[in-house]
Amino acid sequence: MKLYSAQTINEIKDRHNFKLSKSLGQNFLTDKNIIDEIIESSGISSNDLVIEIGPGIGVLTKEALEAAGRVIAIEIDQRLIPILEETLSEYDNFEVINADILKTDLKAIIEANKGYDAVRIIGNLPYYITTPIIMKILEDGIPADSITIMMQKEVSDRIKAPVGSKNAGAITAAVQFYCNVTQIASVPKEVFIPRPKIDSAVLRLDVLNSPAVEVKDKSIFFECIKKGFGQRRKTILNSLNGVGGIGKEELAKVFEINDIDPQRRAETLSLEEFGKIADTISGGR
Ligand code: SAM
Repeated sequence: MKLYSAQTINEIKDRHNFKLSKSLGQNFLTDKNIIDEIIESSGISSNDLVIEIGPGIGVLTKEALEAAGRVIAIEIDQRLIPILEETLSEYDNFEVINADILKTDLKAIIEANKGYDAVRIIGNLPYYITTPIIMKILEDGIPADSITIMMQKEVSDRIKAPVGSKNAGAITAAVQFYCNVTQIASVPKEVFIPRPKIDSAVLRLDVLNSPAVEVKDKSIFFECIKKGFGQRRKTILNSLNGVGGIGKEELAKVFEINDIDPQRRAETLSLEEFGKIADTISGGR
């Protein structure tokens, strides 16, 4: 059975009286080449644990199950659980957890499933929460070897933009602090049911052995990034005011010590400069 074909997806929907939920970002993949590309580029091998975010009716899950030692999928939509149990009934190395990925303790799941060669996260992410999902995986320090995810093109463009360029945002700095970023594929909107308004892309994020820059206090570093890009039109003297509990006068000294012009904007700072600013603030606390 070609699970990924539009015909099968529609047949399953009709049989289970399942209506796609727009608010849960349900756009199902129908292109075998893209599915294969995600699985191949994620580097899954037979003794790996795969965690899939949002399996839908299981098109990606099925191929992951063929390649991996075990697949654990997290799906928020309770209506999809019996469908997944049917579509993936032939696999005994599959488990689905009916939960919100943003409220799921992935570390505990990985801890409870020790002994695999690598942990690989995959997913065709629900677009309405792409950035929070990525931030959660990174900030929680989830011990994953690779993260291969599909997202809307705008977000992938932002993630792979150089830090210190106009396209960069908090997500750019956060991802590039922890990972090497590679674009695997551009995905046209025509390959989804229903068809979204925008194209997508698949990125592979390889978690670095140690973050791209060394910082004393990650929470201060992330506060700088979030505040800096949260008010990107403001100068860093204004946007970073209050980070680590320090006011403008002290902040001006932080910039002076590091020879950074306080009139610059966050989008012009490199990861190293964010690191220096954060370290000086952390050191002075
Ligand atoms: N993997 C399937 C595919 O490629 O055809 C479905 C992808 S669809 C873009 C996103 C999936 O994520 C849907 O099945 C949706 O129900 C699920 N989802 C949405 N929000 C979620 C959340 N907070 N936690 C877990 N799953 C979620």
